[in-house]
Amino acid sequence: MKTFAITTLGCKVNTFESESYIESLQALGYKEVDFKESADIYIINTCSVTNTAASKSRQKIHQAIRQNENAMICVVGCYVQTNPQDLHEIERIDLLVGAKGKNKLAQYIDQGNSDVSISDQRDMTFESLPLKQYKHQTRAFLKIQDGCDQFCSYCIIPYARGNERWAQSSDLIDMAKSLVSSGHKEIVLSGIHIGRYGKGSDTDLAGLLRRLDSEVVGLLRIRLSSIEITEITDDILNLMTTSEKIVRHLHIPLQSGCDAVLQRMNRPYTTDDFYRRLSEIRNNFPMISISTDVIVGFPMESETEFEQTLSFVERCRFSFVHVFPYSMRVNTAAASMAGHVDAQIKKERTAYLIEKSNILKARFDMQFVNKEVQVLFESYHKGYAIGHTPEYVTVRVVSDQPLNNQCHPVLITHHKSGLNYGVLAEKAVKS
Ligand code: SF4
Repeated sequence: MKTFAITTLGCKVNTFESESYIESLQALGYKEVDFKESADIYIINTCSVTNTAASKSRQKIHQAIRQNENAMICVVGCYVQTNPQDLHEIERIDLLVGAKGKNKLAQYIDQGNSDVSISDQRDMTFESLPLKQYKHQTRAFLKIQDGCDQFCSYCIIPYARGNERWAQSSDLIDMAKSLVSSGHKEIVLSGIHIGRYGKGSDTDLAGLLRRLDSEVVGLLRIRLSSIEITEITDDILNLMTTSEKIVRHLHIPLQSGCDAVLQRMNRPYTTDDFYRRLSEIRNNFPMISISTDVIVGFPMESETEFEQTLSFVERCRFSFVHVFPYSMRVNTAAASMAGHVDAQIKKERTAYLIEKSNILKARFDMQFVNKEVQVLFESYHKGYAIGHTPEYVTVRVVSDQPLNNQCHPVLITHHKSGLNYGVLAEKAVKS
């Protein structure tokens, strides 16, 4: 039996796609082994969202080549689409698949096909990738959408993943049912720009949420991976009010707390717009967790502009902030802007904002001390069962056994070193 090993860089959409490649290859009779082992076939599912991700993608390719010089080396995904010339120079690569043709990857491998062209990526239709079960995790990501037409000035994704497109809602309902019957209790709706799901068609994101909520029996939690502030409709908020499945957690990318920077980034809102909508959401759900992404050191970002971001982040009371130092991506509008910020300054601003995020996160998490919460457990480490609340607060419970994929009421007893700890509440187990 031929063996394959896969490594995945980047986002939740890549994770979904990798799991689908695994399932398709196993259906063809291939056996998965760990990426550190010698395999007949290596798949590197790449990312190019930052320079670091691109460089890690290259490192993984070379690792695979070193591990078995006779192996078939397959490189797929965003880095292939944005930098095909870099990869054509690595002679040992057998198969390159960019944004198009991912749904045929297993077939290409099985047939030893090495001639897949990396074509234009702005005219694509949605390629459906089947997936019944995640082998490596309890939380299931469901890819509902791909591509982006927004072209934020710093972002390579529209070039890497192409135009906006989405899956049929009926296919997604079937896939969600299948994931739930395989045991998954939480589904994270994932995509590149999921707020644009189904725009102009019969079923938009709210419509899809409504169907998932009512039709997928046994599903405990529905989470949105990330959604733009301008795309959180009243319809979605109304659904969140009535649904027991849609969690009270929204990840809303801010990117900057300074209007001038937002404009240079080509973001479609001002800080006033952002704050107004945030307040409306909080009026409906006072305990909601709202997390965000912020890019620091965008071209021409002055000290004053960065300080505006710091104070706006504080004012928004985010539950956590993913901080990204700006990474210049060739061909994007920002790459040719003047005033690129010195690397050391970017490093310092990143550290400041991470410190701020840690304070906000601790403040948010501590609200749950002495409260009972529902925890869906996902992992086990050194005598602790570890899981998340609907608000995505990490909780650790002392346990002599893993509780993976079980949902239990937990009384949060204390917060220590950035983590919430609790004990299983003496209540009926909800599983
Ligand atoms: S909305 Fe902006 S940041 Fe998000 S994928 Fe599209 S271009 Fe990139």
